[in-house]
Amino acid sequence: MDSRHWIDGAWVTGTERFASINPADGSVVGHAAEGGRAEADAAIGAAHAAFNRPDWAQNPRLRQSVLLGWADRLDAEAEDLARLLTLENGKAIAQSRGEIAGAISEIRYYGGLARHVPSHVLEVEPGVLSTMLREPAGVAALIIPWNAPAVLLARAIGPALACGCTVVVKPAAQTTLLTAAFLRTLSEVPGLPRGVCNMVSETGHAAAARLVDSPLVDVVSFTGSTATGKRIMVAAADTMKKLSLELGGKSCCVVFPDTDTAETAARIATAATIISGQQCTAARRVLVHASAFDAMKTHLRAALAAMTVGNGLDPAIRMGPLIDRPARDQVQTQVERAFDTCDEVLLRGGVPKDSPAAASFLTPSLVAHDDPSAFFCQDEIFGPFVVLERFETEAEAVAKANNTAFGLSASVWTRDGARALRMARALRNGTVWINDHNRLFAEAETGGYRQSGLGRLHGYDAFADFTELKHICQMVGTIG
Ligand code: NAD
Repeated sequence: MDSRHWIDGAWVTGTERFASINPADGSVVGHAAEGGRAEADAAIGAAHAAFNRPDWAQNPRLRQSVLLGWADRLDAEAEDLARLLTLENGKAIAQSRGEIAGAISEIRYYGGLARHVPSHVLEVEPGVLSTMLREPAGVAALIIPWNAPAVLLARAIGPALACGCTVVVKPAAQTTLLTAAFLRTLSEVPGLPRGVCNMVSETGHAAAARLVDSPLVDVVSFTGSTATGKRIMVAAADTMKKLSLELGGKSCCVVFPDTDTAETAARIATAATIISGQQCTAARRVLVHASAFDAMKTHLRAALAAMTVGNGLDPAIRMGPLIDRPARDQVQTQVERAFDTCDEVLLRGGVPKDSPAAASFLTPSLVAHDDPSAFFCQDEIFGPFVVLERFETEAEAVAKANNTAFGLSASVWTRDGARALRMARALRNGTVWINDHNRLFAEAETGGYRQSGLGRLHGYDAFADFTELKHICQMVGTIG
């Protein structure tokens, strides 16, 4: 398997290639073209020229037919794409199938909306009309991570293309083949003008950095860590780009004693180990009412210990490897530091004994701790690691849950409907689930409070990240 850059309608190779590695066994899945600043400039130039032609930015019906045609082509290749996603990322095949289906659904959603990006007109004084025209913002650079490369691409490229932007996609190195396979189906849709969508791949960050500082890029939509998001904000300041930043999280589950603790524990274990704990919204901290704390200890430890870990292509496996060895080693180091300083180690995860030498598996860990200021309650540890904490009152639960720099997502577990909504309102997060976790929909905006990011993706409000509002004022006068 081989992937190239996609620039101005052509799939082009570079002089160098890099390997995409299967994290379940270290084998080579395929190769991708190595790019950098020059390829980024060529892609930006193509996107800029395509934006300045009226055939895309001012043709919503074409945009809809391209997006719907793309979704149909993806449908036809869904199973192959799911397998490729598991090969490159390692996630369980059921999760890959769900992600591909979700991404296709999202492209259809934005295909529908492409013909409904309304503006509004006001008569501000007699005979004075103010047209507030919602226009595409221009060239959008989309920097996509490896953890959910299909759905996170769809939720950025969907609104960007639907509202008339042209784009340059920069995939994560680890999942470049999946992104390229996804975009190849778009390149085959009749009617797509050349240069509207471009892709540049790389192992380093030179192309990504160029997307951020180029004066010809109008929007940067980045999904990744808060640390990189901050660097992007600084680098984008000089050219005053619109920024859509979907960053890190440290999601809390707040559990009251009126739920079935065993069932809640099982569902939280699933929420904590989704993509091997490498999902931004994965359950990380579990705050439990003191009266249910001991029961939760027992049930959550059992549920995490029962997680089947192995090659994601095996349908019996619920947790695959981490994305690569550096990521696995970093998470393992953080988890071992937590073991040294936490109140109690409840489940000591590690590298499974039968793991292939070049694989990056790590089994889940669970600790109990009272002080929410501990580094492992504050820092995002991007792997299968969970902290159990205790509370006595709703106010204490809210104070502990909100004691974080992040604000991406949380969940409340209770049978008391009023309490659920009261808690949901008090938790400072972009998303709060009630008696569930990790439910994401094309229709429902997601994004972060505080250091979890800027802007919203999914849903109608995603257009705010990719459009500008222009005021056209006209004195038409009155008759009579
Ligand atoms: P990361 O911050 O390491 O991002 C890597 C990407 O950033 C690569 O594509 C790289 O080329 C690019 N990059 C690095 N330095 C850059 C620079 N100076 N300028 C421009 N681009 C640069 O993140 P990751 O490890 O790939 O992803 C995991 C993180 O993503 C976690 O923190 C997770 O919470 C977050 N995430 C957030 C969401 C969300 O919706 N909020 C979704 C998925 C993942």
